[in-house]
Amino acid sequence: MICIECGEPVSSLYTTYPNGHIKLTDCASCHQVCDKYVEFDNVLLFIDVLLLKGQVFRHLVFNSIGLDKGMSTARKIRLVSVLFEIYITWAYEERKGLGGIKDFSIYNEVLAKDAVTQYLYFGVQCFSDDLLTHWLLQWLTCTLFKWTPRDSTTPGTAISMTLVIFSGVRLFPLLMLIWPYDSSQLDPTTMSITMKLCTNVALVEALRLITQFPLWKPIVMFAILTVCKLLTRTALIALLLSHGDYTTFVTIVSRQWRALQS
Ligand SMILES: [Zn+2]
Repeated sequence: MICIECGEPVSSLYTTYPNGHIKLTDCASCHQVCDKYVEFDNVLLFIDVLLLKGQVFRHLVFNSIGLDKGMSTARKIRLVSVLFEIYITWAYEERKGLGGIKDFSIYNEVLAKDAVTQYLYFGVQCFSDDLLTHWLLQWLTCTLFKWTPRDSTTPGTAISMTLVIFSGVRLFPLLMLIWPYDSSQLDPTTMSITMKLCTNVALVEALRLITQFPLWKPIVMFAILTVCKLLTRTALIALLLSHGDYTTFVTIVSRQWRALQS
């Protein structure tokens, strides 16, 4: 457990008295309340997550769901978030197709198949993206940049928890799909790029808030992650589409590469 204001490790966040009252602990280092979010409602916590407040990220990672009792909750949130991601990715790629984009795209090949097969393709992509994101960011943070939390939290767990909390921010595209809005001024590609840009900026900021790295480190980590995701995603879907045939695999990958360059 840490003080969410200054990051100093603390032994307890509050004291419970026999009459049932609790008193929040004051930090010996910065003299502020160690963790005001102990008394906050979940709805207020969620709003502050959306506002990317550093204190709420530190509260959730180090003082709440990052602890053993919250691990099962975090796993459930991670699974639900990936299931939402499958739907969001599928819906946006389908909208791009309906928008009249005729250039070759690996997704056009996927969207030509039946609905169940499409879901399986996007499922494989989103689950592999999730595994790669958690593994690679843990490796970059803990091994390459040698980050360690100031309390006893395992570094890998802290990064994983940050990504799970960040998945709350990724719900925005889902809300935009559910609630109708005037899309006449924006084509689906622009919308998709804008949403990805916003969530990417939020991811960099979330990593900076937890690790307290200088900004360039999360940006480097994000750049490496983006390249790795693009390569593995293309290779994986091309492998599935080609059914293991090497010539078809190379043809699909080279066409996708040319489409990305154009
Ligand atoms: Zn403090």
